[in-house]
Amino acid sequence: MTLTVGIDIGSVSTKGVLFDGKQYEHRIIPTGWSPSQAGKDVLARLLEPQGLSPDNIDRIVGTGYGRIQEGMFDQTYSEITCHARGAHFLFPGAGGLIDIGGQDSKVISFGERGKVLDFVLNDKCAAGTGRFLQVTAQALGLEVSQLAELAEGAAPAAINSMCAVFAESEIIGLLAQGIPVEMIVSGLLHSIAKRITIMSGKIRFQDTIVFCGGVAQNTVLQDLIRLEIGCRLAVPSCPQAVGALGAAVLGHDQIGIPC
Ligand code: ADP
Repeated sequence: MTLTVGIDIGSVSTKGVLFDGKQYEHRIIPTGWSPSQAGKDVLARLLEPQGLSPDNIDRIVGTGYGRIQEGMFDQTYSEITCHARGAHFLFPGAGGLIDIGGQDSKVISFGERGKVLDFVLNDKCAAGTGRFLQVTAQALGLEVSQLAELAEGAAPAAINSMCAVFAESEIIGLLAQGIPVEMIVSGLLHSIAKRITIMSGKIRFQDTIVFCGGVAQNTVLQDLIRLEIGCRLAVPSCPQAVGALGAAVLGHDQIGIPC
């Protein structure tokens, strides 16, 4: 059996996938202060429960901002290449993806075998990224995982500031005016959906779009993006691991085993 591992060392979390050509397992851990240690830790967490060592793995493929770790990987690819390959593997009928991670957001269209056709990337500011959600959740004394449930069905408050730095003070101002927390969170999610829709407008899509990255776990945001973009949106069971999965699938591609 051919086994590959994909490791996506992100700004917030490090994702690892062990892949046998059909099935895969994933692990997610915080990246913390040492991307190389996070890469090693996620590899150990994938392999040890299976009684495997790195010698049993045919290719270890890296991606994410922390992928430049000397000696750790047999090969590295950009996050754009890996996300497109992973999304295509999971949803072969899809024509593109939206990825909202901790530090950036991207919209990618792809063709056969996940080959990238076009993309738009926002990595210049935290607006509309997971970092923006983390800062605002913190200002409200909440966890990011609580935001969707809170915003469900709430009317959106008008949020003017998309800058993570200014959003915190704007939220404090809105709370002082007596605006309910659920309306503030709803307003934030609406503003993220609008922003990614504007980015998506620059790419021509056909068929289904895959929504991935940590922020894709927010079910209210899933619905808002579906409405705004007006096309089918597929959300993987673990949207955060799509880039790592793509890296592992690319490992199989390299060996020449089609999957
Ligand atoms: P990166 O690759 O940059 O590390 P990820 O794709 O792992 O980013 O996503 C991290 C982001 O996911 C965090 O900034 C956080 O805002 C968001 N996130 C994590 N868990 C959840 C959740 N349960 N619901 C919504 N967003 C979440």
